[in-house]
Amino acid sequence: MAVQLYTGDGKGKTTAAFGLALRVAGHGQRVFIAQFMKGRPYGELQAVSAIPNIEVAQFGWDTCIHREDVSEFHIQRTREGLETCERMVASGRYFLLVLDEILIAQWFGLVGLEEVSDFISRHRHQAELLLTGRRAAPELIELADLVTDMSCVKHPFDSGVSAREGIEY
Ligand code: ATP
Ligand code: MG
Repeated sequence: MAVQLYTGDGKGKTTAAFGLALRVAGHGQRVFIAQFMKGRPYGELQAVSAIPNIEVAQFGWDTCIHREDVSEFHIQRTREGLETCERMVASGRYFLLVLDEILIAQWFGLVGLEEVSDFISRHRHQAELLLTGRRAAPELIELADLVTDMSCVKHPFDSGVSAREGIEY
């Protein structure tokens, strides 16, 4: 079992996490995916609802927030997400646990660095743990076994193309 981090500004972190989930599910193993800071109906949610071994739950909201917008509501939603992950990993049912966007949630201050590092330390031998999101804290990079840093070389967004259905969401 390993602790994986997909971070960086380039596109592909969440979609890679769902790719790994598919691979795990294909071997008949179970996956739990918690999406932090997200409440919109991303295409992947509908798609994986048809796959018996993958469960997804969102612990976010449907608006885009900035660091200065953080409120008790956002902190509470994030806490609910981490508590659910605790229960899921403790159940021993899951081969892979994905904490999608937890790294950027930590950078926003929605969850403490210690809470995330404690979670990793306590559960790293119970399931494969995959944490995604931009701006991974150096302390979490240190704790991980596998870190992929996706760098942005180009993205259509920078030439004014807005988010596209099926590609960005
Ligand atoms: P994806 O969900 O497409 O795999 P991601 O998880 O790497 O991307 P996030 O950092 O979670 O990307 O970004 C959230 C949203 O911004 C997603 O809709 C994503 O597709 C899009 N995005 C990712 N990278 C970039 C970028 N460099 N410029 C603009 N938009 C991006
Ligand atoms: Mg993402």
